[in-house]
Amino acid sequence: MIVNAAGAWGDDVARRAGVAPLGLQPKRRTVVQLRVGRGGLRDVPFVTDSHESFYFKGEGDRSVWVCPLDETPVDPCDAAPEEIDVATAIDRFERAVDWPVEAVERKWAGLRTFAPDGRMKFGFDPDEPTFFWCVGQGGMGIQTAPAASLLCARLILGQPLGRELEGINAADFAPRSLR
Ligand SMILES: Cc1cc2nc3c(=O)[nH]c(=O)nc-3n(C[C@H](O)[C@H](O)[C@H](O)COP(=O)(O)OP(=O)(O)OC[C@H]3O[C@@H](n4cnc5c(N)ncnc54)[C@H](O)[C@@H]3O)c2cc1C
Repeated sequence: MIVNAAGAWGDDVARRAGVAPLGLQPKRRTVVQLRVGRGGLRDVPFVTDSHESFYFKGEGDRSVWVCPLDETPVDPCDAAPEEIDVATAIDRFERAVDWPVEAVERKWAGLRTFAPDGRMKFGFDPDEPTFFWCVGQGGMGIQTAPAASLLCARLILGQPLGRELEGINAADFAPRSLR
């Protein structure tokens, strides 16, 4: 049995196993850590605008994390931040607050991977019963990991979902059900 939890590479792993891909699309997302010319920022909560064009949140006493909410489609790769996305993040931040940006302390990017219908895909492939998909978590794979991993474990072991997953319908995550 193969459990395919390869993130952005999920379709590549499927092809290598002779299983048809799902059409997964990795999208790059960038975060920058800015040093700002004022203190007391550590507890600044998550702030976003009504257009959802950026968010920021406190990180250190004089630093914030800012994300331009980029969703650039890319091939699976070791993602790195592009200068334009860093600049966009700073620009949107500066338009929203009058806190002076002093420096980019850190910047990084990663991949968020989506199935064509945007839903997470957990389950055996209908055409290959020894191939289990655990992909398509998009931008929620960290926060959903405890429940998702429990669901996957129960499905792989052929066990009832149990009380912890009450109300969850495994069919909603079936790999080839498009909504
Ligand atoms: C900037 C950013 C911010 C995010 N913020 C949040 C957030 O606030 N909350 C949240 O819940 N989620 C967030 N996410 C999304 C979250 O990171 C993903 O949903 C999650 O990482 C997906 O987990 P995964 O294990 O499926 O894939 P990944 O974390 O991508 O792991 C897949 C792993 O498989 C490995 N792999 C691939 N191919 C092979 C192979 N052939 N053999 C062996 N290993 C292989 C890869 O190297 C990789 O380590 C964010 C993502 C980004 C980029």
